[in-house]
Amino acid sequence: MIPFNKPCVTGDEEAYIQEAIRNEKLSGKGEFGKKCTDWLEARLGCERALLTPSCTHALEMTALLTDIQEGDEVIMPSYTFVSTANAFVLRGANIRFVDISPDTMNIDPDLIQNAITEKTKAIVAVHYAGVACDMDAIMKIATNHDIWVIEDAAQALLSTYKGRPLGTIGHFGTLSFHETKNYTCGEGGALIINSANSIQHAEIIQEKGTDRSQFLRGMVDKYTWQDVGSSYILSDLNAAYLYAQFENADLINEERLRYWDLYKAGLQQLAGKNFIKTPHIPEDCQHNAHMFYIKTEKEEDCTQLREYLDGQGIMAVPHYVPLHPTNAGEAYSEFCGEDKFTTSESDKILRLPLFYGMGDEAVTHVVDRILAYYKI
Ligand SMILES: *Cc1c(COP(=O)(O)O)cnc(C)c1O
Repeated sequence: MIPFNKPCVTGDEEAYIQEAIRNEKLSGKGEFGKKCTDWLEARLGCERALLTPSCTHALEMTALLTDIQEGDEVIMPSYTFVSTANAFVLRGANIRFVDISPDTMNIDPDLIQNAITEKTKAIVAVHYAGVACDMDAIMKIATNHDIWVIEDAAQALLSTYKGRPLGTIGHFGTLSFHETKNYTCGEGGALIINSANSIQHAEIIQEKGTDRSQFLRGMVDKYTWQDVGSSYILSDLNAAYLYAQFENADLINEERLRYWDLYKAGLQQLAGKNFIKTPHIPEDCQHNAHMFYIKTEKEEDCTQLREYLDGQGIMAVPHYVPLHPTNAGEAYSEFCGEDKFTTSESDKILRLPLFYGMGDEAVTHVVDRILAYYKI
Protein backbone atom coordinates (compact mmCIF):
# COMPACT_ATOMS: atom_id res chain seq x y z
CA MET A 1 0.00 0.00 0.00
CA ILE A 2 1.48 3.34 -1.04
CA PRO A 3 -0.42 6.32 0.41
CA PHE A 4 -0.60 9.62 -1.44
CA ASN A 5 1.08 11.48 1.42
CA LYS A 6 2.61 10.93 4.82
CA PRO A 7 3.27 13.92 7.05
CA CYS A 8 6.98 14.66 7.18
CA VAL A 9 8.85 13.59 10.34
CA THR A 10 12.60 14.10 10.53
CA GLY A 11 13.29 12.80 14.06
CA ASP A 12 13.85 15.93 16.16
CA GLU A 13 10.21 16.95 16.46
CA GLU A 14 9.45 15.14 19.73
CA ALA A 15 12.49 16.49 21.54
CA TYR A 16 11.68 20.05 20.46
CA ILE A 17 8.05 19.75 21.56
CA GLN A 18 9.26 18.48 24.95
CA GLU A 19 11.64 21.43 25.11
CA ALA A 20 8.74 23.82 24.43
CA ILE A 21 6.85 22.18 27.33
CA ARG A 22 9.89 22.53 29.60
CA ASN A 23 10.21 26.18 28.52
CA GLU A 24 6.72 26.69 29.95
CA LYS A 25 5.84 28.66 26.87
CA LEU A 26 3.10 27.09 24.79
CA SER A 27 1.39 30.11 23.28
CA GLY A 28 2.79 31.91 20.27
CA LYS A 29 6.02 33.87 19.81
CA GLY A 30 8.07 31.68 22.14
CA GLU A 31 11.59 30.40 21.56
CA PHE A 32 10.63 28.11 18.67
CA GLY A 33 8.41 30.67 17.00
CA LYS A 34 11.36 33.07 17.05
CA LYS A 35 13.69 30.41 15.66
CA CYS A 36 11.25 29.68 12.82
CA THR A 37 10.71 33.32 11.85
CA ASP A 38 14.47 34.01 12.02
CA TRP A 39 15.03 31.02 9.75
CA LEU A 40 12.37 32.18 7.26
CA GLU A 41 13.68 35.75 7.23
CA ALA A 42 17.28 34.60 6.67
CA ARG A 43 16.37 31.99 4.10
CA LEU A 44 13.93 34.12 2.10
CA GLY A 45 15.48 37.51 2.69
CA CYS A 46 12.08 39.07 3.42
CA GLU A 47 11.42 42.10 5.62
CA ARG A 48 9.43 40.06 8.13
CA ALA A 49 7.84 36.63 8.50
CA LEU A 50 4.95 36.03 10.91
CA LEU A 51 3.82 32.51 11.82
CA THR A 52 0.08 31.98 11.52
CA PRO A 53 -2.21 29.05 12.38
CA SER A 54 -2.61 28.32 8.63
CA CYS A 55 -2.03 29.70 5.15
CA THR A 56 -5.75 30.44 5.12
CA HIS A 57 -5.20 32.82 8.03
CA ALA A 58 -2.18 34.41 6.36
CA LEU A 59 -4.37 35.05 3.29
CA GLU A 60 -7.07 36.58 5.51
CA MET A 61 -4.41 38.88 6.97
CA THR A 62 -3.46 40.05 3.46
CA ALA A 63 -7.11 40.91 2.78
CA LEU A 64 -7.04 43.15 5.88
CA LEU A 65 -3.60 44.57 5.06
CA THR A 66 -4.71 45.55 1.56
CA ASP A 67 -7.85 47.10 3.06
CA ILE A 68 -10.28 45.17 0.88
CA GLN A 69 -13.75 46.74 1.11
CA GLU A 70 -17.22 45.63 0.05
CA GLY A 71 -17.39 45.59 -3.75
CA ASP A 72 -13.64 45.62 -4.37
CA GLU A 73 -12.38 43.13 -6.93
CA VAL A 74 -9.57 40.61 -6.65
CA ILE A 75 -8.13 38.69 -9.60
CA MET A 76 -6.93 35.09 -9.28
CA PRO A 77 -7.13 31.72 -11.04
CA SER A 78 -10.22 29.55 -10.50
CA TYR A 79 -7.92 26.53 -10.35
CA THR A 80 -6.88 27.00 -6.71
CA PHE A 81 -7.74 26.08 -3.13
CA VAL A 82 -10.91 27.66 -1.70
CA SER A 83 -8.99 29.75 0.84
CA THR A 84 -7.39 31.86 -1.89
CA ALA A 85 -10.84 33.21 -2.74
CA ASN A 86 -12.54 32.93 0.65
CA ALA A 87 -10.05 35.20 2.40
CA PHE A 88 -11.13 38.12 0.20
CA VAL A 89 -14.83 37.21 -0.01
CA LEU A 90 -14.87 37.43 3.81
CA ARG A 91 -14.05 41.15 3.40
CA GLY A 92 -16.80 41.63 0.81
CA ALA A 93 -14.72 41.34 -2.34
CA ASN A 94 -15.93 40.03 -5.68
CA ILE A 95 -13.57 37.53 -7.23
CA ARG A 96 -12.60 37.86 -10.89
CA PHE A 97 -11.22 34.56 -12.13
CA VAL A 98 -9.03 34.32 -15.20
CA ASP A 99 -7.90 31.25 -17.09
CA ILE A 100 -4.67 29.35 -16.52
CA SER A 101 -1.83 28.32 -18.83
CA PRO A 102 -2.13 24.58 -19.42
CA ASP A 103 1.64 24.01 -19.21
CA THR A 104 1.98 25.11 -15.55
CA MET A 105 -1.66 25.38 -14.38
CA ASN A 106 -0.76 28.91 -13.21
CA ILE A 107 -2.66 32.12 -13.98
CA ASP A 108 -2.11 33.27 -17.58
CA PRO A 109 -0.71 36.81 -17.19
CA ASP A 110 -1.85 37.79 -20.70
CA LEU A 111 -5.46 37.48 -19.56
CA ILE A 112 -5.17 39.62 -16.45
CA GLN A 113 -5.37 42.98 -18.21
CA ASN A 114 -8.90 42.29 -19.49
CA ALA A 115 -10.13 41.44 -16.00
CA ILE A 116 -8.96 44.72 -14.47
CA THR A 117 -11.57 47.39 -13.70
CA GLU A 118 -11.40 50.52 -11.55
CA LYS A 119 -12.50 48.37 -8.60
CA THR A 120 -9.54 45.97 -8.89
CA LYS A 121 -7.54 46.01 -5.67
CA ALA A 122 -5.29 42.96 -5.92
CA ILE A 123 -4.00 40.03 -7.94
CA VAL A 124 -3.33 36.72 -6.22
CA ALA A 125 -0.63 34.67 -7.92
CA VAL A 126 -0.94 31.00 -6.91
CA HIS A 127 2.30 29.09 -7.51
CA TYR A 128 0.80 25.72 -8.36
CA ALA A 129 2.90 22.67 -7.44
CA GLY A 130 5.64 25.02 -6.24
CA VAL A 131 6.30 26.23 -9.79
CA ALA A 132 6.42 30.00 -10.13
CA CYS A 133 3.89 32.13 -11.96
CA ASP A 134 5.29 34.55 -14.55
CA MET A 135 6.03 37.12 -11.85
CA ASP A 136 7.70 39.72 -14.09
CA ALA A 137 4.54 39.99 -16.19
CA ILE A 138 2.28 40.05 -13.13
CA MET A 139 4.34 42.69 -11.30
CA LYS A 140 4.39 44.86 -14.41
CA ILE A 141 0.59 44.85 -14.77
CA ALA A 142 0.17 45.49 -11.04
CA THR A 143 2.61 48.41 -11.05
CA ASN A 144 0.89 49.96 -14.07
CA HIS A 145 -2.47 49.82 -12.32
CA ASP A 146 -1.21 50.45 -8.79
CA ILE A 147 -2.72 47.27 -7.37
CA TRP A 148 -1.45 44.80 -4.78
CA VAL A 149 0.15 41.46 -5.56
CA ILE A 150 -0.21 38.60 -3.09
CA GLU A 151 1.65 35.38 -3.75
CA ASP A 152 -0.20 32.30 -2.55
CA ALA A 153 3.01 30.36 -2.03
CA ALA A 154 1.30 27.71 0.12
CA GLN A 155 3.06 25.00 -1.89
CA ALA A 156 6.17 26.92 -2.79
CA LEU A 157 8.60 27.26 0.13
CA LEU A 158 12.17 26.98 -1.25
CA SER A 159 11.07 27.42 -4.87
CA THR A 160 12.50 30.36 -6.81
CA TYR A 161 11.75 32.56 -9.82
CA LYS A 162 14.84 34.00 -11.50
CA GLY A 163 16.69 33.11 -8.32
CA ARG A 164 14.25 34.94 -6.04
CA PRO A 165 12.40 32.93 -3.37
CA LEU A 166 8.67 32.62 -4.02
CA GLY A 167 6.63 34.66 -1.58
CA THR A 168 9.15 37.52 -1.65
CA ILE A 169 8.34 39.05 -5.06
CA GLY A 170 4.82 40.43 -4.51
CA HIS A 171 3.82 42.75 -1.67
CA PHE A 172 2.92 39.78 0.50
CA GLY A 173 3.42 36.04 0.34
CA THR A 174 1.63 33.28 2.22
CA LEU A 175 3.00 29.84 3.13
CA SER A 176 1.30 26.68 4.40
CA PHE A 177 2.65 24.12 6.85
CA HIS A 178 -0.38 21.86 6.59
CA GLU A 179 0.57 18.18 6.82
CA THR A 180 0.20 17.79 3.05
CA LYS A 181 2.91 20.39 2.36
CA ASN A 182 6.70 19.87 2.09
CA TYR A 183 7.41 21.34 5.54
CA THR A 184 4.74 20.91 8.14
CA CYS A 185 3.58 21.23 11.73
CA GLY A 186 0.13 19.71 11.23
CA GLU A 187 -1.67 22.99 10.72
CA GLY A 188 0.33 26.17 10.28
CA GLY A 189 1.32 28.94 7.93
CA ALA A 190 3.27 32.14 7.55
CA LEU A 191 2.75 35.63 6.24
CA ILE A 192 5.74 36.98 4.33
CA ILE A 193 5.93 40.77 4.40
CA ASN A 194 8.04 42.41 1.74
CA SER A 195 7.62 46.06 2.64
CA ALA A 196 8.76 47.47 5.98
CA ASN A 197 5.74 49.84 5.88
CA SER A 198 3.32 46.97 6.44
CA ILE A 199 5.04 45.31 9.40
CA GLN A 200 3.40 47.26 12.19
CA HIS A 201 -0.09 46.94 10.71
CA ALA A 202 0.42 43.19 10.21
CA GLU A 203 1.52 42.76 13.83
CA ILE A 204 -1.60 44.58 15.04
CA ILE A 205 -3.89 42.43 12.88
CA GLN A 206 -2.13 39.27 14.10
CA GLU A 207 -2.46 40.29 17.79
CA LYS A 208 -6.28 40.61 17.85
CA GLY A 209 -6.11 44.22 16.69
CA THR A 210 -3.86 45.34 19.54
CA ASP A 211 -0.33 46.76 19.77
CA ARG A 212 0.78 43.86 21.98
CA SER A 213 3.86 43.32 19.77
CA GLN A 214 5.09 46.80 20.63
CA PHE A 215 4.25 46.19 24.27
CA LEU A 216 6.38 43.00 24.25
CA ARG A 217 9.28 45.05 22.88
CA GLY A 218 8.80 47.57 25.70
CA MET A 219 7.73 50.31 23.33
CA VAL A 220 4.37 51.00 25.04
CA ASP A 221 3.44 50.31 28.69
CA LYS A 222 -0.03 48.90 28.04
CA TYR A 223 -1.43 47.30 24.97
CA THR A 224 -4.75 48.48 23.64
CA TRP A 225 -7.21 47.98 20.82
CA GLN A 226 -5.86 49.71 17.72
CA ASP A 227 -7.61 48.27 14.68
CA VAL A 228 -9.58 45.34 13.26
CA GLY A 229 -7.73 42.10 13.88
CA SER A 230 -8.01 38.52 15.01
CA SER A 231 -5.98 35.73 16.61
CA TYR A 232 -3.50 34.86 13.87
CA ILE A 233 -0.69 33.39 15.98
CA LEU A 234 0.85 29.92 15.82
CA SER A 235 1.30 28.03 19.10
CA ASP A 236 4.91 27.41 20.13
CA LEU A 237 4.15 23.67 20.27
CA ASN A 238 3.52 23.75 16.53
CA ALA A 239 6.53 25.98 15.99
CA ALA A 240 8.69 23.39 17.82
CA TYR A 241 7.63 20.73 15.33
CA LEU A 242 8.14 23.14 12.45
CA TYR A 243 11.66 24.13 13.50
CA ALA A 244 12.79 20.50 13.28
CA GLN A 245 11.59 20.54 9.68
CA PHE A 246 13.34 23.82 8.90
CA GLU A 247 16.62 22.49 10.26
CA ASN A 248 16.30 19.60 7.81
CA ALA A 249 14.82 21.64 4.97
CA ASP A 250 17.57 20.97 2.45
CA LEU A 251 17.55 17.25 3.17
CA ILE A 252 13.78 17.12 2.67
CA ASN A 253 14.01 19.22 -0.49
CA GLU A 254 16.75 17.09 -2.04
CA GLU A 255 14.94 13.86 -1.33
CA ARG A 256 11.67 15.14 -2.81
CA LEU A 257 13.50 16.42 -5.89
CA ARG A 258 15.10 13.01 -6.35
CA TYR A 259 11.66 11.33 -6.33
CA TRP A 260 10.31 13.96 -8.71
CA ASP A 261 13.19 13.37 -11.14
CA LEU A 262 12.67 9.59 -10.90
CA TYR A 263 9.02 10.04 -11.86
CA LYS A 264 9.88 12.38 -14.69
CA ALA A 265 12.55 10.07 -16.14
CA GLY A 266 10.49 6.90 -15.59
CA LEU A 267 7.43 8.28 -17.33
CA GLN A 268 9.32 9.99 -20.14
CA GLN A 269 8.58 7.31 -22.73
CA LEU A 270 4.83 7.50 -22.00
CA ALA A 271 4.96 11.27 -22.38
CA GLY A 272 6.97 10.84 -25.58
CA LYS A 273 4.19 8.66 -27.00
CA ASN A 274 1.60 11.29 -25.96
CA PHE A 275 -0.29 8.96 -23.63
CA ILE A 276 0.23 11.39 -20.81
CA LYS A 277 1.79 14.78 -20.08
CA THR A 278 4.27 15.34 -17.28
CA PRO A 279 4.84 18.72 -15.58
CA HIS A 280 6.65 21.47 -17.44
CA ILE A 281 9.10 23.58 -15.45
CA PRO A 282 9.75 26.95 -17.15
CA GLU A 283 13.40 27.96 -17.49
CA ASP A 284 13.19 30.78 -14.92
CA CYS A 285 11.88 28.46 -12.22
CA GLN A 286 13.55 26.25 -9.67
CA HIS A 287 10.78 24.16 -8.11
CA ASN A 288 10.62 22.33 -4.76
CA ALA A 289 9.08 19.02 -5.90
CA HIS A 290 5.91 19.78 -4.02
CA MET A 291 3.94 17.63 -6.41
CA PHE A 292 4.32 15.23 -9.28
CA TYR A 293 1.23 15.07 -11.45
CA ILE A 294 0.45 13.56 -14.80
CA LYS A 295 -2.24 14.62 -17.21
CA THR A 296 -4.09 11.98 -19.17
CA GLU A 297 -5.43 12.46 -22.70
CA LYS A 298 -9.07 12.48 -21.60
CA GLU A 299 -10.99 12.82 -18.35
CA GLU A 300 -12.18 9.16 -18.55
CA ASP A 301 -8.56 7.93 -18.79
CA CYS A 302 -7.82 9.78 -15.58
CA THR A 303 -10.63 8.05 -13.67
CA GLN A 304 -9.74 4.64 -15.07
CA LEU A 305 -6.04 4.98 -14.32
CA ARG A 306 -6.86 6.13 -10.82
CA GLU A 307 -9.08 3.10 -10.24
CA TYR A 308 -6.42 0.79 -11.65
CA LEU A 309 -3.75 2.24 -9.34
CA ASP A 310 -6.15 2.02 -6.39
CA GLY A 311 -6.52 -1.70 -7.15
CA GLN A 312 -2.72 -1.94 -7.04
CA GLY A 313 -2.64 -0.32 -3.59
CA ILE A 314 -1.40 3.01 -4.93
CA MET A 315 -3.24 6.15 -3.93
CA ALA A 316 -3.21 8.73 -6.71
CA VAL A 317 -5.54 11.68 -6.31
CA PRO A 318 -7.13 14.35 -8.51
CA HIS A 319 -6.87 18.00 -7.62
CA TYR A 320 -8.84 21.22 -7.49
CA VAL A 321 -12.38 21.35 -8.69
CA PRO A 322 -12.42 24.85 -10.23
CA LEU A 323 -14.06 27.42 -7.96
CA HIS A 324 -16.22 29.36 -10.44
CA PRO A 325 -19.03 26.82 -11.15
CA THR A 326 -19.55 25.95 -7.46
CA ASN A 327 -22.38 27.23 -5.21
CA ALA A 328 -20.18 29.85 -3.56
CA GLY A 329 -18.40 30.58 -6.82
CA GLU A 330 -21.67 31.54 -8.45
CA ALA A 331 -22.50 33.87 -5.59
CA TYR A 332 -19.16 35.62 -5.18
CA SER A 333 -17.25 35.39 -8.43
CA GLU A 334 -17.20 35.87 -12.13
CA PHE A 335 -15.06 34.12 -14.71
CA CYS A 336 -13.58 36.76 -17.02
CA GLY A 337 -13.03 35.62 -20.57
CA GLU A 338 -13.22 32.06 -21.79
CA ASP A 339 -12.68 28.98 -19.61
CA LYS A 340 -10.45 27.37 -22.18
CA PHE A 341 -8.20 25.35 -19.87
CA THR A 342 -9.31 25.66 -16.22
CA THR A 343 -12.05 23.03 -16.31
CA SER A 344 -10.75 20.80 -19.09
CA GLU A 345 -7.19 20.56 -17.73
CA SER A 346 -8.22 20.09 -14.10
CA ASP A 347 -10.30 17.06 -15.15
CA LYS A 348 -7.19 15.33 -16.47
CA ILE A 349 -4.83 15.79 -13.54
CA LEU A 350 -3.74 12.89 -11.36
CA ARG A 351 -1.27 13.52 -8.54
CA LEU A 352 1.08 10.65 -7.70
CA PRO A 353 2.35 9.70 -4.23
CA LEU A 354 5.32 11.83 -3.16
CA PHE A 355 6.46 12.32 0.43
CA TYR A 356 9.62 12.46 2.51
CA GLY A 357 10.70 8.93 3.41
CA MET A 358 8.82 7.33 0.50
CA GLY A 359 11.88 5.54 -0.86
CA ASP A 360 13.15 5.18 -4.44
CA GLU A 361 11.66 1.69 -4.80
CA ALA A 362 8.16 2.91 -4.07
CA VAL A 363 8.52 5.59 -6.76
CA THR A 364 9.84 3.04 -9.26
CA HIS A 365 6.94 0.73 -8.34
CA VAL A 366 4.37 3.45 -9.09
CA VAL A 367 6.12 4.17 -12.41
CA ASP A 368 6.09 0.44 -13.30
CA ARG A 369 2.38 0.13 -12.56
CA ILE A 370 1.57 3.14 -14.75
CA LEU A 371 3.70 1.70 -17.59
CA ALA A 372 1.88 -1.63 -17.13
CA TYR A 373 -1.50 0.12 -17.33
CA TYR A 374 -0.53 1.57 -20.69
CA LYS A 375 0.95 -1.83 -21.65
CA ILE A 376 4.44 -0.48 -22.11
C1 LIG B 1 -2.69 24.26 1.09
C2 LIG B 1 -3.08 25.48 0.39
C3 LIG B 1 -3.75 26.54 1.04
C4 LIG B 1 -4.27 26.44 2.44
O1 LIG B 1 -3.33 26.14 3.38
P1 LIG B 1 -3.76 25.93 4.91
O2 LIG B 1 -2.46 26.07 5.65
O3 LIG B 1 -4.34 24.56 5.01
O4 LIG B 1 -4.74 26.98 5.27
C5 LIG B 1 -4.00 27.70 0.34
N1 LIG B 1 -3.62 27.83 -0.95
C6 LIG B 1 -3.01 26.84 -1.61
C7 LIG B 1 -2.61 27.07 -3.03
C8 LIG B 1 -2.73 25.63 -0.97
O5 LIG B 1 -2.13 24.65 -1.64
